[in-house]
Formats: sequence, structure tokens, C-alpha cells
Amino acid sequence: MWDQYNIRIDEKCKECYKCKACNKELPKNETQLQEHLSFSSFKIPLHHAFSNLLLNKEYQMTVQTVLDETHYCLVSDGWLNINKSLVISYMITTPI
Ligand SMILES: [Zn+2]
Repeated sequence: MWDQYNIRIDEKCKECYKCKACNKELPKNETQLQEHLSFSSFKIPLHHAFSNLLLNKEYQMTVQTVLDETHYCLVSDGWLNINKSLVISYMITTPI
């Protein structure tokens, strides 16, 4: 982990760790430094994965959740968009 940072001594003679990937400077705190690397190594799924695999998987999980439920509530909401056209949304909610 330490090779991911450049170490510098600040004006108060304390060690600062500068991330080689994003140049963010962090104090000498092992937990904080490890956390930073964990977050910076997170990669957002590609558009194709979002629009196909993940969306389909989420849709199937939602459909199954709704089918397993015995009680439903129909909720509606209405508003005007910037063209003053009425937009009405309908949602089915479950107690889950
Ligand atoms: Zn970084």
C-alpha cells in the first residue's frame, strides 16, 4: 500500500502522504490511507453493463418482489413540466 503514496514532510515536520493516482494529500493515518485506496480503486460499471445486465437483473428482482407481495398501494402524482403539459405518474408500492 505504501508504494501508492509519495511521502513528504510538511511545515510542521509531519509526514504527509500524497496519492500517486489523484494527488490528494492525506495525513499519516493507516486506516484513512487504506480507505482512500479502496475508494479510488472502485470502478463504475460501463454503460453497456448498466443498460443491459444490471438493469435487467434489477428489473427481475423488482418483479419478483412485487409478485411475492400480497398487499399493494396505488400512488399517483401530478405536475406540470416546463411546457405546462400535465405529467401524471402512477406507482405501485408494497410494504417492503
Ligand atoms: Zn487517490
